[in-house]
Amino acid sequence: MENKDYIAIVQCHLVKQRCSGYFCEKAFHERTGGFASYSPDKAYRTLYLTCGGCCGRPLHRKLSNLVHKIKAKEGVDKERIVVQLSSCMTKDSYHGPACPHLGYLKELIARLGLDVCEDTSISQKAEARRKAGLYRE
Ligand code: SF4
Ligand code: SF4
Repeated sequence: MENKDYIAIVQCHLVKQRCSGYFCEKAFHERTGGFASYSPDKAYRTLYLTCGGCCGRPLHRKLSNLVHKIKAKEGVDKERIVVQLSSCMTKDSYHGPACPHLGYLKELIARLGLDVCEDTSISQKAEARRKAGLYRE
């Protein structure tokens, strides 16, 4: 994570119809869950966006736009950007099973030459339910 300055946090478009994304932001602010490996002292730039809706193909255009604009405006190379996929995409939870298009989304991101990480907010209750077999691991 040392060479990363810019985090593009991608959230499930369907879940975001009823979620503010507060717990993702809180996890980043506190450097917990999927953000635990990010330095607490570094002032990262962040961008919150959704996949655009199933099957997630709009994400390719959104991230492509980011890569081109941030390079043109600020000279930021894509190697300094990391894409962070929200826990409601990566894990079975109260919101439903993990995204059925996760592999496809990762392929779209890889084609742009961007690095990707999984998870944002990790709910202790959901973790317990996954361990108990109520949600899939
Ligand atoms: S991980 Fe949680 S807080 Fe973040 S977008 Fe998904 S449901 Fe909302
Ligand atoms: S493609 Fe996955 S992340 Fe995007 S809206 Fe559909 S289920 Fe959610």
